[in-house]
Amino acid sequence: MAESRLDNLDKIVSLSKARGYIYQSSEIYGGLAAVYDYGPLGSELKKNIRDHWWAAMTRKHDNVVGLDAAIFMHPKTWEASGHVEGFNDPMIDDKQSKKRYRADMLIEQHILKLRDKGKDEEADRLQGQLDTTGSRKGLCEDLHDIIISEEIRAPESGAFDWTDVRQFNLMFKTHYGATSSGDDDAIYLRPETAQGIFVNYKNVMDTARVQVPFGIAQIGKAFRNEVVARQFVFRMREFEQMEMQYFVKPGDDEEQYSAWLDKRLQWHKDIGIREENLRVAPHPDDKLAHYALAAADIQYHYPIGWQEVEGIHNRTDFDLSRHQEYSGKKMEYFDQQEQERYIPYVIETSVGLDRVSLMVLCDAYREEEVDGDTRTVLKMHPKLAPTKVGIFPLMKKPELQELAHKIEGDLNDQFMVRYDESGSIGKRYRRQDEAGTPFCVTVDFEGLEDNTVTIRYRDDMAQERVSVDQLENVIRDRMKSWKPE
Ligand code: ATP
Repeated sequence: MAESRLDNLDKIVSLSKARGYIYQSSEIYGGLAAVYDYGPLGSELKKNIRDHWWAAMTRKHDNVVGLDAAIFMHPKTWEASGHVEGFNDPMIDDKQSKKRYRADMLIEQHILKLRDKGKDEEADRLQGQLDTTGSRKGLCEDLHDIIISEEIRAPESGAFDWTDVRQFNLMFKTHYGATSSGDDDAIYLRPETAQGIFVNYKNVMDTARVQVPFGIAQIGKAFRNEVVARQFVFRMREFEQMEMQYFVKPGDDEEQYSAWLDKRLQWHKDIGIREENLRVAPHPDDKLAHYALAAADIQYHYPIGWQEVEGIHNRTDFDLSRHQEYSGKKMEYFDQQEQERYIPYVIETSVGLDRVSLMVLCDAYREEEVDGDTRTVLKMHPKLAPTKVGIFPLMKKPELQELAHKIEGDLNDQFMVRYDESGSIGKRYRRQDEAGTPFCVTVDFEGLEDNTVTIRYRDDMAQERVSVDQLENVIRDRMKSWKPE
């Protein structure tokens, strides 16, 4: 059985469309760039990932509670958080094609090209130069100088005809209320879910009887007007985040930061991602965000290279202090035991649900030669699979259909199942392979006699006969013991 590794996203994009995982938004109108809709399988996959994250964060930690804050927030929130002033990306336009690029990314791509050509010394020199453009001040000029002096050309048009580099705020702005007009009523779509947690920190503390250290977990949409957004659901303008802010006593932050980093890396392994495709990349000190004391990315080896799927940050007391300053409301915590007051430090874990979905699809994707044919199969963890069990009567005969429907009714309390009677059994298996369905159950005439069925396993295509009464146990055991190959 031969396997192949993906070197770009094309096959994932087309499988996603063909099987109903992910569609381009508003496709009938030509699509909306960097916005995607999840189809029947995609919405199940997302839901399963969401559920596993929620359980891992809240159910498995009795000091972590949930929150569901609104997308719209008081505009002052974003002044306090620093987003109005500083949530910018440096952009540059190719005057010929009118295409817009992120200046730092252009340079990074150029460095990769140099490395491909074996020009490592040149690449190192340029990387060094790029690394020292860390601070926001003078960033645009520095990036522009590099692009011009290195004669970096526009990737699409090949032209060398650039505008200046300018900062571009990534927040979407809209107006609030029916009578709104000018900037006075401006309101933003949240660019991260975290601020909903910070502004509710007091409410939660006063009502949920929690004591430091404690965490607040939230899943929700976030919006960023990304300059470059051409990597399928990796970089979207509307996406979903799963974030947790863990409030700790200052001084305990370093220990908690590394504990959460370990736990979060383990979570990615627990959802069945192959270890060799995961790594931790700490941010160098001079590249830290304005609020962070320490930060690391959990990266996945996507077909587009090693990229961030999750960020772990030590945000210090930056956010709570700023909200205290801007709102005039005290954000202190009173430690009864120690009889002291302090503003807690925050360890943040922030993972993109869309990037996890893409990671799961990429990690699961296999093409295998089977009897001279190519089988496409998604070998994802059964607990994430959108459909757990395909149920097939061998033929369209009433007695087979009846038993198959009975099994469907027995199992669908526990699992998402799909009844399918169209096409040959082989075709039905292949359809479920592409959908990542780990188990298929076929009802035949023998089974009518002895109440057994054939269960077929997605990963090795092995089949065995089991009693109908044992089906649920067999499926549960297999789900528990599953390991990625
Ligand atoms: P990047 O450097 O890739 O733009 P970031 O450092 O800005 O990411 P964070 O602000 O730390 O990202 O956001 C936390 C998580 O939210 C990221 O790890 C990622 O999974 C997800 N995320 C951020 N921006 C996007 C986006 N445009 N599309 C999809 N997911 C995103």
